[in-house]
Amino acid sequence: MTSTTDARRIVIIGAGISGLAAGYRLARRAPQHSILLIDSHAEVGGKIRTRHLNGYTIEDGPDSFLGTKPQAVELAHELGVPLQGVNLDTRRTYVLGDGELHDLPEGLSGLVPAKLGPLLRSALLSPAGKARVAAEWFVPRGSNEETTLGAFMRRRMGREVYEKLVEPLTAGIYGGNGDEISLSATFPQLLQLEQEHGSLLRGLRQRPRPRTATSPFLTPVAGTAALAGAVAGSLPRPPSLTTCATAISRRGGGWIVHTDRGEILADGVILAVPAPVAGQLLAPVDADLAAELLAVRYAPAATASLGFRLDKLPPLGPFHGYLVPRRERSPVMAVTWSSEKFDHRAPPGQTLLRVFFGRADQSIAAMEWEGLEELARSELRERLGIAATPDIVATHVWNDALPQYALGHAARVARIRARVENLPRLSLAGAAYRGVGIPDCIQSGYDAADHVT
Ligand SMILES: Cc1cc2nc3c(=O)[nH]c(=O)nc-3n(C[C@H](O)[C@H](O)[C@H](O)COP(=O)(O)OP(=O)(O)OC[C@H]3O[C@@H](n4cnc5c(N)ncnc54)[C@H](O)[C@@H]3O)c2cc1C
Repeated sequence: MTSTTDARRIVIIGAGISGLAAGYRLARRAPQHSILLIDSHAEVGGKIRTRHLNGYTIEDGPDSFLGTKPQAVELAHELGVPLQGVNLDTRRTYVLGDGELHDLPEGLSGLVPAKLGPLLRSALLSPAGKARVAAEWFVPRGSNEETTLGAFMRRRMGREVYEKLVEPLTAGIYGGNGDEISLSATFPQLLQLEQEHGSLLRGLRQRPRPRTATSPFLTPVAGTAALAGAVAGSLPRPPSLTTCATAISRRGGGWIVHTDRGEILADGVILAVPAPVAGQLLAPVDADLAAELLAVRYAPAATASLGFRLDKLPPLGPFHGYLVPRRERSPVMAVTWSSEKFDHRAPPGQTLLRVFFGRADQSIAAMEWEGLEELARSELRERLGIAATPDIVATHVWNDALPQYALGHAARVARIRARVENLPRLSLAGAAYRGVGIPDCIQSGYDAADHVT
């Protein structure tokens, strides 16, 4: 237990959910320290961004988080933030295949079609593609060499199911190209299944999955920003916004955080900014560490949320949305019917849809960000027959949406960690290292806080 005599000044750079979680942990576990949270933006939350417009609740970034990882749910409960699950009675989801919408086959266990029955009945795959999935039982174990998710899943289950099903599911989480992201850094459990059972299908059959009638995805009733706002509101001192860190340097046993508003002296620093920003800030302190951080690439993404009068829509069965595989060659990755998926997203008589754009290897120019509204409207027109003029359109472009866990990512993170160990009371938090989801980011904030105290 630290005594009140070693009260320290800790500066947290970045008030996204990772930095907020770090501040929350410090305030609870080490209240004797003075915590200053700074962010270059005018609002807290970072990628968590909810807008309330004309009665709509619009998410520019994440719309929910996984409830099977405890961190976000527990944080919301501790702060009294009411949560809701997805509407289970409208939970039909489609995947686009050769221009047609197909039901997402039931029985997916993460990325793996664990139940063959629904897959065999689906028209998504050709007979040869289905046979190849079933043959996964007999595919021998691979080597221990690090591989990409795409290469692994093609080898185990075949090209067709990878391209038509696994790839769009992956893109929904990492936004990137499955042929570039590291299997061990993103889905190590698949590797483990293969190593332990010799087959993913066999392994999943032997590991009974808990049957649950509750939603695996949860979100604050008022939108995801309610969680970020509640964390910020719980801190002993309000975050210092529109304060941009420009560099960090050492001073005696502590640190100076240089900002566009002046210098801040600190005993400890948590960098909860995207990895390349952390790299720039740390360049004067450790050039090798900076180079490792600058090498973490990010994929861009954008969202367009469109609100309509319900009576202007053609008859559409209730569903949550659809995924668009890369092989369909569209800048659209997914469409979510936000007000069917969650309650409280549109005013009475109105409805809200969200089009999600992004592929890591397509340049922003090629994606015609300026034309997002038109691209979104043509997607809804072509795929769902929605020709009505929307009452409201809200677009947002994220140039650094999601860090890409490329081959070698886990080793890079280990090297980063080793170098950070040499820097007294300095730690890193955020989506760039060990998980991009909100619960992972919260955990990274907690770990970073524990490290500087
Ligand atoms: C479109 C989209 C959809 C997503 N969907 C989901 C989802 O449904 N579920 C889920 O769990 N996850 C989702 N994610 C991922 C998740 O939202 C992010 O990984 C997470 O919010 C990142 O949090 P962070 O605090 O690590 O980083 P960020 O949110 O990026 O926060 C970093 C903060 O640092 C600040 N900053 C940057 N530079 C400086 C500087 N020089 N000085 C001071 N401050 C600085 C920024 O302003 C920002 O506030 C999604 C992400 C995106 C982009």
